[in-house]
Amino acid sequence: MSSNFRVRFAPSPTGEPHVGNIRTAIFDWLLAQRHGGEFIVRVEDTDRARAVDGAVDVIMEALKWLGLNWDEGPDVGGKYAPYRQSERLELYSKHAEMLVQSGFAYRCYCSPERLDAVRSTRSKKQNATGYDRRCRNLSHEERSRLESEMAAKGDSPVIRFKMPLEGTTTVDDLVRGEVTFENRLVDDFVMLKSDGYPTYHLAHLIDDHEMHITHVLRGEEWLPSVPRHLQLYEALDWQPPQFAHLPIILAPDRSKLSKRHGATSLLDYRKMGYLPHTMVNFLTLLGWSLDDKTELLSTQALIENFSIERVSKSGAIFNNDKLDWMNGHYIREMSADELADALLDFWSTFPTPEIPNLPSRELALEIVPLVQERLKTLRDAAPLVAFLFKERIEYETDDLIQRRMDANSTRRCLKAAHDGLATIDPFDAGPVEALLRDMVKDLDVKAGQLFGTLRVATTGQRIAPPLFESLEVLGRQRSLDLIAKARDRL
Ligand code: GLU
Repeated sequence: MSSNFRVRFAPSPTGEPHVGNIRTAIFDWLLAQRHGGEFIVRVEDTDRARAVDGAVDVIMEALKWLGLNWDEGPDVGGKYAPYRQSERLELYSKHAEMLVQSGFAYRCYCSPERLDAVRSTRSKKQNATGYDRRCRNLSHEERSRLESEMAAKGDSPVIRFKMPLEGTTTVDDLVRGEVTFENRLVDDFVMLKSDGYPTYHLAHLIDDHEMHITHVLRGEEWLPSVPRHLQLYEALDWQPPQFAHLPIILAPDRSKLSKRHGATSLLDYRKMGYLPHTMVNFLTLLGWSLDDKTELLSTQALIENFSIERVSKSGAIFNNDKLDWMNGHYIREMSADELADALLDFWSTFPTPEIPNLPSRELALEIVPLVQERLKTLRDAAPLVAFLFKERIEYETDDLIQRRMDANSTRRCLKAAHDGLATIDPFDAGPVEALLRDMVKDLDVKAGQLFGTLRVATTGQRIAPPLFESLEVLGRQRSLDLIAKARDRL
């Protein structure tokens, strides 16, 4: 299927990728995939004060990790390169100048101090814009005077857009339907700053046009800016793209999701051991649904079913329990090979003291059945299997002694287990279990007592994977050594 859908993700490199922005990127990508269109990454780095070094790489790393491959972007180039706004500055100043010439924009000479003063008095009055439009109707003489005063100080004017003072602007948003704004309530916004850099309002719009973007998906916080953009499109005599303003992501207390609720960077979720597909599935459901009940969707199913018509208007709640449940589900669905690879990749990317040396793939494959049923995240695996990587298993001797046991009976259990485990062949979980269950009867103890003692002796952990499988992975010799050491401590 081929179409002219061109959808862009336009991050500002101001820090780590927020899950809300990544949700937008996922929707962009799904829409492009669904319609056989193009997905474009464009870096909006014109706010020099907020730019963070390295942020572009981190954002691209996040997209790659999720599998959101792009057709055009700063690293891969494309027909409309460059894809970084800081490399396209001339284009913006050229258009700003054209708009001044055609009477749709004007130079503003107001100092920051004056603007502050105007804003603080005007904000008290209802229905007033922040700027009083002083420079909108200057006479030729006034303009020249202010121009030279400013030049003498080494400053340059900004360029503002002349919003119509009457009438309304209506956007037909794909999510929200028609939304109407009163023009007189919209500021004569700055398009070009005094340093020659454009604001977002000018730059993104010129780029969306130049890059033939057909659909603009972005957070609902941008909705109030749409009248500015539509008026600017009109002034330039350009056709606007279609807009879809996505619902805000909320914390469970229904306030805007922020750092005080926990992690907000997508890469934190990676570090916490969530799978990329979990994040794609989970974040897609924050604002979109197939049928209000289906939760688990493969990438293919998401692509086949995604549509903006099913994006909701109301805020979507980020529910951590659901995220854990979904991740646990996808971990359990993995093949042994997939999970072994995922664990190895996770441990090598995020080293942890519990796994001092990256295990061989063979050992990773042995670890999989020990942990697969128990994981909510990949990060949960290391504490469970730490005993496999320790030279010395540490515990308090008293921990060996289970309830209603004493040193003597515990020693008896350890000796019997040691002697029995020395003889069975093969040393696999099945025969190990059969032997130990028989032994419970002979020793006249409870299964929990014998197994509890052996768990402490061989893992030093209160919470560990199933005993028989753990012994199998430890192997006969290591198991016997640990049991003998425990016995000698009593
Ligand atoms: N650079 C803007 C942001 O990061 C993009 C908004 C848009 O998609 O138009 O929020």
